[in-house]
Order: sequence, then C-alpha cells, then structure tokens
Amino acid sequence: MAELVFFSGTMDCGKSTLALQMDHNHRARGRSGIIYTKLDRAGTDVLSSRLGLSTPAHEVGDELDFWDAVVEHATQGLRIDYLICDEVQFYTPAQVEQLARLVDEMGIDVFAFGITADFRTQLFPGSRRMIELADKVQVLQVEALCWCGRRATHNARVVDGAMVVEGEQVVVGDTKAGTETLVEYEVLCRRHFMRRMNSAAARAAASSPDVLPFDLDLCPVPPC
Ligand SMILES: [Zn+2]
Repeated sequence: MAELVFFSGTMDCGKSTLALQMDHNHRARGRSGIIYTKLDRAGTDVLSSRLGLSTPAHEVGDELDFWDAVVEHATQGLRIDYLICDEVQFYTPAQVEQLARLVDEMGIDVFAFGITADFRTQLFPGSRRMIELADKVQVLQVEALCWCGRRATHNARVVDGAMVVEGEQVVVGDTKAGTETLVEYEVLCRRHFMRRMNSAAARAAASSPDVLPFDLDLCPVPPC
C-alpha cells in the first residue's frame, strides 16, 4: 500500500541526508523514483546535504502540477514507484494535495522532507497541508543542538548577526538580497528562541561584566 510520509525536523537535523539515503535504498531494490526539491542551498535542480552529498533533482516551481508531471512521465513509458520531495515546506498546499492524490490513485509512495515552522514559529503552508494529509508524520531522530547544548526545536532568522521575528516568510539564507544585508539561520532551543538569544547574542552577553553565564537562561522574554 503506497503511503504519504512526512519526515519533519528543524534545519540541521539531517533531512536532506536521509532523503538521499532513502533514494539510494529504494533504487538498490530495483525501484524507480523521481527526486524533487525547491530552493536548495546549493542552487536549482540539485538536492544537497550538509554532509557534502548531492544529486541532480527536479526544481519545484509554483506552477508545477505533480499529477500532470507524473502522468507525463508515465505516458513516456517511465515507471515511477516513488517520489522523494525535499524542502516541502516551500511547496504550495495544492501541490501537497496533488502528491496525496498520486499516492491514492496511482499507488506511488511519496517521501516528503521538510521543516515544519518558520522563523516566527508559524507553520509553513506546505508543511501544514502535509501534516493534515500525511499517512505518517515522523520527527527525525538526529537532533540538532542549540548553542547551549539542549535539543534545538526552533529555526531562528539572524540578520546581520541579530535575531529577528518579523519579515517575509521565505528568505533563502546566506544571501545578500539586493542590499548589504546578510541573512542566516540558526537552530535554537525554545528557551533561547523565546529570549531572542542566538549564539552571537549569548557570546556578547557572556563577555559583558554585567551578566553571569547562568543569567542567560534567566534573562527576560522580550515583550512582543
Ligand atoms: Zn538553548
């Protein structure tokens, strides 16, 4: 029975590495699949992992219809047993529905990988629809760590070294979007996310004579 499975986690939890491993395992069993991704940090038409592995992939644009694309592959005589869908948080809800339909009506396994929530702790629309429709949601076991050593559960956006909680939902990291602004992402535990205490802020506070290291957990949550 085909399944729609959503593997979720924070950044740095090894999602893309698992996506590559999943493709390898199924291919080794003689199954045939297609790999999709969107806005991969390594560029378009590639799925890359932080461990340095990468493979060619189909880039998902907003106009892509998964149903039509797979039907077209099938009419060309290509067998498709499964889809690997990385960065699924950036897919549209309609595209997630198309993936569910492929599972139900064409018996294709869909293995989707993505971050659930954005830098404001709000669900990405694609991830929300995936959680609503998936047969299984699996939280990845490789845990990313906050600078303090606790399990990192939140994705923080850091602009020119300072954590922000307002802005566009999708800004790809490590880019200078037309300005001299550097946008980066950092995973944090909830405690330090709520206190806006990313690693740079923690270092600055720790080197201040006014703050003892244990105060970093006790610093107040800033007002919204
Ligand atoms: Zn922490």
